[in-house]
Formats: sequence, structure tokens, C-alpha cells
Amino acid sequence: MTERLAVEGGTPVIAESIPGGMHGPSMIDEREIDAVTEVLRNGKLFRFVENSNVAAFEQEAAARLGVKHALMVNSGTSAIICALTGVGIGPGDEVILPGYTFIATAAAIVGVGAIPIIAEIDESLGLDPEDVERKITPHTKAIIPVHMQGVPCKIEKILSIAKQHNLKVVEDCCQCVGGMYNGKYAGTWGDAGAWSLNYYKVITCGEGGLVFSNDYDTYERAAFASEPGLPMWMSDSEWKNKPFSCQTYRAGEILGAIARVQLSKLDDILTHTRMLKKAFLAELSDNPKGYIRQHVDDPTGECGISAAIIIRDTELAKKYAEALQAEGLGAGTAYNEGFPDRHIYTYWDSILFKHSPNAAGYPWSDPRYKGEIEYSRDMCPQTLSILGRALRFGFNVNMQEEHARLMAAAINKVDAVLG
Ligand SMILES: *Cc1c(COP(=O)(O)O)cnc(C)c1O
Repeated sequence: MTERLAVEGGTPVIAESIPGGMHGPSMIDEREIDAVTEVLRNGKLFRFVENSNVAAFEQEAAARLGVKHALMVNSGTSAIICALTGVGIGPGDEVILPGYTFIATAAAIVGVGAIPIIAEIDESLGLDPEDVERKITPHTKAIIPVHMQGVPCKIEKILSIAKQHNLKVVEDCCQCVGGMYNGKYAGTWGDAGAWSLNYYKVITCGEGGLVFSNDYDTYERAAFASEPGLPMWMSDSEWKNKPFSCQTYRAGEILGAIARVQLSKLDDILTHTRMLKKAFLAELSDNPKGYIRQHVDDPTGECGISAAIIIRDTELAKKYAEALQAEGLGAGTAYNEGFPDRHIYTYWDSILFKHSPNAAGYPWSDPRYKGEIEYSRDMCPQTLSILGRALRFGFNVNMQEEHARLMAAAINKVDAVLG
């Protein structure tokens, strides 16, 4: 017996709308307000002060991650730029990244003068290790695996490829703060990791980022990349490497003060979102007819902020989305003709058409770059196929267990009829 779908006049599974909202901002209370007020009252807004909040945040984050060094910067993009500079990536180098990530990952590669090489994702919605191998050339120097929407990608496989080809690995954990993979934090597997603390991420201070590594030289080079004035605040003798000048990506004390409080709430956020995802998966049919679940290597460590199902074909996926919306569950395929989602490479016009900030066409026409890269909108067909069939669902701190169960029930109902 199947129930009549809401789209065909049946009763919707979800009567009241599922609560929305972002994780970090929803958790803001008097503690953040007090922390900011204290900074404003003492007037010490610059990071190089005694009892710096930024320095304390770095220590607290490093302790949590179990890494030796962490540096707070003003954004996730800056954190990736500093990490790439830290591991020695620059003009002439190719860096492989997935075709499904925020455009900022590609922008960070261009930002250090290197060439983004776009690779396929697989059913994990993360970098496809097989395509990474295909995309390696004599110019490849690094890989940026991205842990999208709280789900760590196949990092162990990617690391073994990197090791084989002597490539650096910078993990983009901007959407996976606090996520783990086989018992170890995302971002601590490769040579360096990057967090974003912007408004939409797991925890936030409005704008902010963190770059972290176990390697001292990587950390120090990342620090130089973030602040040309460092030798003003510390004597050269305190550094092991010769300081170089780059950009300024400093974070201020107000950001640091908020970030510290938010970090202390990370466990509460993730405990809740993981509970929601568990409830969702427990309710979701074990034998779906029309879709497969997103592949997740380690379900216990992921953040639990999202789930995805991948429908058999694109037309059917559109029907699922429509039917789910009628059931009260907002859903749409990731890749569709409507909204140009900048998380999908096909909409990265500035990269695909090699738009350069200067007439010389840097970095693509930099004479140090000896490779050849041509981009096109359909260069990663597997990625577009998967994202054209993927329906994604978010879990947030404002939702209750019952909401997660209802979401799965709506999917089960639709699948039973359309699948
Ligand atoms: C948000 C994000 C970034 C950039 O972070 P900002 O803090 O906005 O600079 C990079 N990569 C991914 C995957 C992101 O989601």
C-alpha cells in the first residue's frame, strides 16, 4: 500500500515547516556579547597584545585538533592561501581540486599564482581519487581535497596517491569544522588544513579562518604570508626562516573573542546535528527503489549537518524534488538549470575563462607555467551527472529529532511511489 503523494493531492508528511537557520549564529548568547564587550571596553583590538584572544583561540583550536601549530586569519580563503604558501606552492605549480567546492578554493590557488586543475567528484560528493590520478602531470605540486557539508572525503586514498607522487595535501575543511575521519580530525591528515569561520559555517565569528599544521616551517611560512609586518612585532631571531612579504590577512581581537566562545560550543552543535542525522538515517528506507545514499567513508566522525541521496536519473530527480517540496521538504538538485551555484565548477566563469586581474594574464600565462590547461563547462561530466541527480538536506541546531524523522519519512513516501 502506498500513500497518495501530496503533489497529487494527498496529505503532506510535514505539516509545519522544518526550522531553518545557521548553526553558529543560532547559538549566539550573552557569552559572545560579553566577550566582545570586554574587548571594546579595554580597547585592545589589535591581535598583538597581552592576553590576546586571537592567540588564545589559536591555542585552544590547536589543542582540540591535536596539532602543533595554528594561525587565525581573516577568512577561510586566506587560510587556504596561507596554507598553500606555507607548503611552498606558487607560480608554475598545478594544484588539483574537486569540481564541487566553493569557488574560493580555486580562487586561493590563483591567489598564490598557481593553476587550478579541476577534478571529478564521486558518490561521496568529494574528490574522486581515480580522477585525481588521471589529472596528475609533471607540473602537479599539490592536491586540495575538500570536505563538503561536514562529510570528510576519501582522504586516506588521496593521501596515498599524494605520497606516491610526492605532492602536498592542503585540506579544505571550511565546511567541516570539527568533523573527523577514522578518529582523527579532518584537516590533520594532510600537510595543512584550513577552517572558515564565516557566517554559514559550523561555528562563526562573522568572518574568519584558521590554518593549521604539525610542521613548524609550514606554520611559519603561513604566518609570513598573513602579515608582512611580523618582523615589527617579533624580532627576526624568533623565526627559523627568513621572513618574506606577502599580504595582510590578520584577524582582530573582536573576531578572536567571538571565535573562542563559538569553539567552546562546537561539541554542543555537533552532538545535536549528529543526533539529527542518526535519526534521519534510522528512519530512511534500507531498500530505496530510486536512489542510493551519498557514500560516507566514516559515518561516525562526520559532522551530521547534511545528507544527500543520489537519484537514478536526472529527470526522475526533478520529480523527486517536486514531490518532496509538496510533502513539505525543501529540496532541489544541486546542479540544475535554475540557480548558478558557485559551488559547482561549471559556474566558475572567472576560472574557466582565465580572467586575470592584470593584462599579463597571470597566472595562466606566467612564463614559469610550462603546462597546458584548457577548461570547459562540461569538462567534469561525472561531477555534473552526480550533482544533477543529488538531493541534499541540511540539519541544523534549531531542528528537533522529530523533524529529522519526518524528513526521512517524506523521502520514503516519495520513493515508494516514484522510485
Ligand atoms: C566558505 C568556504 C571557503 C571560503 O571561506 P571564506 O571564509 O568565505 O573565505 C572555502 N572553501 C569552502 C569549501 C567553503 O565552503
